[in-house]
Amino acid sequence: MKNYGFGVDIGGTTCKMGLFKTDGTLVDKWEIPTRTENGGENILPDVAAAIDAKLSEKNIAKDDVQGVGVGVPGPVKSDGTVNECVNLGWGVFNVAKKLGSIVNLPVKVGNDANVAALGEMWMGAGKGRKNVVMVTLGTGVGGGIICDGKMIAGANGAGGEIGHMTVKDDETVSCNCGKKGCLEQYTSATGIVRLAKMKLEAKSEASGMRNFDPLTAKDIFDEAKKGDKLALELVEEVCEILGSAMASIACVADPEVFVIGGGVSKAGTIITETTKKYFVKKAFHACRDAEFVIATLGNDAGIYGCCQLILD
Ligand code: ZN
Repeated sequence: MKNYGFGVDIGGTTCKMGLFKTDGTLVDKWEIPTRTENGGENILPDVAAAIDAKLSEKNIAKDDVQGVGVGVPGPVKSDGTVNECVNLGWGVFNVAKKLGSIVNLPVKVGNDANVAALGEMWMGAGKGRKNVVMVTLGTGVGGGIICDGKMIAGANGAGGEIGHMTVKDDETVSCNCGKKGCLEQYTSATGIVRLAKMKLEAKSEASGMRNFDPLTAKDIFDEAKKGDKLALELVEEVCEILGSAMASIACVADPEVFVIGGGVSKAGTIITETTKKYFVKKAFHACRDAEFVIATLGNDAGIYGCCQLILD
C-alpha cells in the first residue's frame, strides 16, 4: 500500500477533492468548478490538472499515490462505465479508463450515494463495521449498500437506489423517476414538506407548521420537538414508511447499522429513534438489532468513500 490517495466527488456545480493518507487521514480538501459545457469534456482533464498541481504543491511523488477514487451523480458499473450523468452532460463512457489515461494513476469510480456509504463505513458513523446501509435524506433519497466491506453497484450501476423502492401502490403523483409511490416521495426533504402540506390542508386544527412560508423539513422537525401535534403525527408517518422500507432492505442486506445522512438527518435522534421503533415492528427477527445512527462526515463522506474505493 502506498502512502497517499485522492478522493474526487464530482457534482453538477463543483468537484470536491480530497488528498488522503491511505490510513484515512485527510491531508487537504478543496473544490474546483465542474465545467459541464460541451458534454462535460473538460471535467476529467480539470480533475487531472488539479491532482497534478496538488502533488507538486505538497511535494508528493506520483509513485507514492495508490490511485484516484471518483464519485459521480449517476449509475456506474463496477468497471467504471457511466450511463448518462445528466447533471454533468455525460453520455456513456468508461470514466476510469479515460481519467486513468490522463492522470496516469489507477482510477476507480462509483455512484456518489454509494461512495458516501463507503466513506461513512471507513471513517464515519459506520467505522469498524463491514455491513452498512446508508440512507441519504436530501432533496431526493439516495442510498448505498455495503456488504462485507464492498459497495454493491449491481449489473446496471443502480444498486442502492433505495429512494426508488415502491412503498405505496395507490399514489397518484409521479416521482422524478417517472414511477409512482417511491420512498423518495415521502421521506426526502421535499417529500416530507409535501406530506405536511397535504395534512395541513386536510385538517383544520392549529399547528405551528402553519406559520412558515416556505415550510421546510427542518421547520417540521423543530415543531415536532416542541410537541406540535400535527408535526408529531407527520414525523410518525414519515418514520413508519422509512422504518418499514429499512425492514425490507434488512431482509436483503442484513446490515449491522443503518446510517442516516443528508439535510433531513440534521433533525437528529428524533429520526433514528422513531424510525427504529417502526423498523423493529416490521423486521425479520434475526435482523432486528440493527442500529440506527446519524452520519458524521457530512458533505465530506463522498471524498472519504472515493479514496476508500482505491484501497483494495
Ligand atoms: Zn422514483
